[in-house]
Amino acid sequence: MLSCTMNNRKLKEIFDKTFFRGEVKYNEPMSAHTSLRIGGPADMMVFPEDPVSLKNVLLAAKRERIPVFVFGGGTNLLVGDGGIEGIVTSLKAFNNIEFTRETNDKYAVLYAGAGVALAGLINFAQKNGCAGIEALVGIPGYFGGAVYMNAGSFGVEIKDVLVSVALMNMNGEITILKKDELNFSYRSSNLPEYSIILSANIALNRDNPDDISKRIKEFLQKKRDTQPLGEPSAGCVFKNPEGDGAGRLIDAAGCKGMRIGDVEVSMKHANYFINKDKATCRDFIELMEKVMLRVKEHSGTILEPEIKIVGKFKLKADSY
Ligand SMILES: Cc1cc2nc3c(=O)[nH]c(=O)nc-3n(C[C@H](O)[C@H](O)[C@H](O)COP(=O)(O)OP(=O)(O)OC[C@H]3O[C@@H](n4cnc5c(N)ncnc54)[C@H](O)[C@@H]3O)c2cc1C
Repeated sequence: MLSCTMNNRKLKEIFDKTFFRGEVKYNEPMSAHTSLRIGGPADMMVFPEDPVSLKNVLLAAKRERIPVFVFGGGTNLLVGDGGIEGIVTSLKAFNNIEFTRETNDKYAVLYAGAGVALAGLINFAQKNGCAGIEALVGIPGYFGGAVYMNAGSFGVEIKDVLVSVALMNMNGEITILKKDELNFSYRSSNLPEYSIILSANIALNRDNPDDISKRIKEFLQKKRDTQPLGEPSAGCVFKNPEGDGAGRLIDAAGCKGMRIGDVEVSMKHANYFINKDKATCRDFIELMEKVMLRVKEHSGTILEPEIKIVGKFKLKADSY
């Protein structure tokens, strides 16, 4: 993000001169949008309804040197207690799912907008007899966020079904990149810098809807048995090191149940940190540091965060 200071009045003045369709909110608490329920206010949060409105926001932001952050479902985010400076943009209105012309009776190619809920996409695929993404059930958030993060579970990642991605750059220009032109890796899409995912196409195999439904139920049950899906978290805090599980290492280092303020290492799955009530980002980061230290002392492994940390942070003396 570019850095600058910007008050809400100035943002409003700039925005009043910009053609824009969609909702606009000022001083919007990010805690209301993150699955962790942590995060101070964004100066401005916009919900463009079409690519032209998104482009106009990006051009105005570039001209005025205002930072822009793209927000999906907020399920992999730790937002600073001081909030996010500038404009946060949500693509939740980009929520179309369609069959493309490449679809035939052996396989289907689906177009999905970045704002489609991943759960909704899995549901659509199942109902229409399209298999390949059922292992991703239980992953919250939007399709755009899942592509950006190359979300995955039970050995399946978004990249396995991806055909192409439509991206908008900060000049509002749109390009379509094929999967081979991107460089997906574990929990990363390695997109060109400052790219916004507008939509993507995925290829799925034709299968019986009842068989797909059965697999979805089985995967979901496995997740429910091992992960604290009903509690406020951001999913796995750390990436799994090569050949091992971060949860196993954290558990082995005796960190289950460890707590700072209202953030606790889950008793059910040690790589999930839970907001027990009024947790702050500061507590969360302190707990991350403490856990990383314990794991390093215990196994020599240095854990790497999987969650994305954004925004402004309040220091110990409550100043930032
Ligand atoms: C209970 C729980 C279970 C989870 N289980 C899993 C799991 O099994 N596997 C897994 O991989 N993850 C899991 N997660 C983590 C998270 O749900 C996934 O990473 C998800 O795909 C993130 O999507 P999101 O829309 O919420 O993205 P956000 O959290 O909103 O954003 C994540 C990152 O993506 C970027 N981004 C979002 N949308 C776009 C866009 N349109 N264009 C460009 N950049 C964008 C954001 O800037 C940010 O850097 C879990 C989370 C929870 C809370």
